[in-house]
Amino acid sequence: MDELFDTHCHLDEDAFLNERDDVIERAIALGVTRMLSIGTTLASSQRAIELAERELHVRAAVGIHPNYCSGTQPTDWSEICQMARHPLVLAVGETGLDQYWKQTPIELQQDYFRRHIELSWEVKKPFIVHCRDAEPETLLLLEEMSRIAPLCGLMHSFAGSAETARKCLELGLYLSFSGMITYKRNEALLAVATEAPLDRILIETDAPYLAPVPLRGKRNEPAHVRYTLGKLADARQIDRHELATTTTANALRLLGWPAPLA
Ligand SMILES: [Zn+2]
Repeated sequence: MDELFDTHCHLDEDAFLNERDDVIERAIALGVTRMLSIGTTLASSQRAIELAERELHVRAAVGIHPNYCSGTQPTDWSEICQMARHPLVLAVGETGLDQYWKQTPIELQQDYFRRHIELSWEVKKPFIVHCRDAEPETLLLLEEMSRIAPLCGLMHSFAGSAETARKCLELGLYLSFSGMITYKRNEALLAVATEAPLDRILIETDAPYLAPVPLRGKRNEPAHVRYTLGKLADARQIDRHELATTTTANALRLLGWPAPLA
């Protein structure tokens, strides 16, 4: 069976309460042998690490989501910096900019976004970007930071334009595609995913959110990443196995996960 890597899920969330082990088992049974559980606050980052310590098939990313920067305590960031060094933490984030929810002033979001990128340089682990209704601002900040040092990271649940995709790729970033590419009236996004270079694309669920068609509207889980894989393979007119192998290899190259799984 093909081994898939769900590069973005939130396994610590309450949507999986009392069912977390089943959700992980279902994923593994369907070949999703690697899941990156993403922190959005200090507490959720801690839970992601705890999960990674318990589950062979789970690793963690630690960070503070742009929507949660406002509620952050002064000591939270220094704790995130320490946690980013944990061997089971493969990435920093999720970070980025969100002008949709407007829960945090943009200046504070930008401040935290820069901190995450600096932390990514410090610990030599890639960063994970959330971008919602903020493409120009996100690109501006990424370009600004790229003038200091090369960027290593990924655009999570990429939903931007072809032009934004091109610029992100130029900056050295990977594009991670979610169930959004399976949605109707998202042809433009599917086209971006179809035209992106094969060696720079990843697949993710963003579970419990963004369930792909035919499960749209339901609670999402890592096992469902195969629908996104299938949609993308069909659109690119390549074999599913080839796309599975390639996207997993891409994720391993970017995020690392050295030890073989038992
Ligand atoms: Zn997320």
